[in-house]
Amino acid sequence: MRLDEHRIVVALGGNAILRSKQLNSYTEQYDNIRRTCEQIVQLIAEGYQPVLTHGNGPQVGTLLIQNEAASHLVPAVPLDVCGAETQGQIGYMIQQALKNALRARGLARPVASIVTQVLVDADDPAFATPVKPIGPFLPRAVAEQRMRDKREVWTEVDARGWRKLVPSPQPLGIVEVDVVHALLDVGAVVIACGGGGVPVLRRPDGRFEGVEAVVDKDSAAARLALEVRAAALLILTDVPGVAVDFGKPTQQFLRRVTLSELEGLLVREPFSAGSMGPKVRAAYRFVHDGGGQATICALEDALEGVRGRAGTLVVPNDAMQLSFQM
Ligand code: ADP
Ligand code: MG
Repeated sequence: MRLDEHRIVVALGGNAILRSKQLNSYTEQYDNIRRTCEQIVQLIAEGYQPVLTHGNGPQVGTLLIQNEAASHLVPAVPLDVCGAETQGQIGYMIQQALKNALRARGLARPVASIVTQVLVDADDPAFATPVKPIGPFLPRAVAEQRMRDKREVWTEVDARGWRKLVPSPQPLGIVEVDVVHALLDVGAVVIACGGGGVPVLRRPDGRFEGVEAVVDKDSAAARLALEVRAAALLILTDVPGVAVDFGKPTQQFLRRVTLSELEGLLVREPFSAGSMGPKVRAAYRFVHDGGGQATICALEDALEGVRGRAGTLVVPNDAMQLSFQM
C-alpha cells in the first residue's frame, strides 16, 4: 500500500469537544472546539493534511434524553438518525472554528464534513451481545417494558438505574470514501466518520440500511486511516499516552512500542474495554494492516505526537529509530 506521507487521520476524543463534568452547553463546546482547532491548524501549518474524526457520546446522549422527554409529542429519532444528526452538528462547529483558526494564521483550506455511513456485517458476533450503554438511566419498570415490548437489551448499572445496551460491531468499510478522496485531492480538510460513522448493513439486494448499533470511534478512525492511505493515525485524548498498570503506583506511560511488543502487551495488559482498549487496538490494527505509525497522546500534544516526541507511538517491527517527521 502506498501511503500519502502528508496525510494524518486525527481522532478527537470527548475532551476535544466537551470536558468531563461540563454541562454540554454550547458555549463550552464552542470554547473547546476552538482550542482543538488551534492544534489542528498547527498540523496544517507544518504541511500535514489532517482528516478529522470525532466522538459523539454526550451529543447523542442529549438527543436520547430529548426522545424520552418528548415521547408523547413526536416520534422518537432512531439511533442511526441521531448519529447522522450529531455528525452534522459537531461537523458544523468544527468547520466554522477551523476556518476561523486558519484565517487567523493567514492560511486557507476548504473544510467539509461528510455524513458518513460505515458498513458493518449482520453476522458480526457483536450483534449477539450488545455491550455499549447509551441514553439516560431509567427505572427498572421502564427497562422491563422495553425489553418485553421492543425486545431491547437493558442492564442495571447502579443506583442510578437501568441503561439500554446496543451492539458495537467492527467497521468493514466506509460508504462515502470516494467522496472523501475527491475532497482530499483538492486539498480539503475533511471531517468524516463522526461518532464512528452511522452503522449500516448491506442487504443481499445491495441496499444499505441503518442499524441500531454504535461503531467505536477509534476503530472507525483506523478503518478511515487505512482507506485514505494516511501515513499516520493520531488519537487525541485526555491522558499523555498509554500506561501499563494504569492507576496503580507502578503506572508507566509507554513511549514507543513496535507491533510485536504491542502484541505481547495486548495479551498481558487488560486495557479498559470502554476507553483505552479500543485506542490501543485501533493503533495496532492500523500499523498491522500497512499504516505508517499510530500515536495516542494528549490533545495539547498533537504536533509533538505526530513527530513521535510525545505520547505513545506504535511503529512497525522494521521501523527505523527515526519516526515520521517532515
Ligand atoms: P476519549 O473520549 O478520548 O475516547 P476515553 O475516556 O474513551 O476518551 O479514554 C481515555 C481514558 O482512558 C483516560 O481518561 C483514562 O482515564 C482511561 N484509561 C484507561 N486505561 C488506561 C491506560 N492503560 N492508559 C491510559 N489511560 C487509560
Ligand atoms: Mg472513548
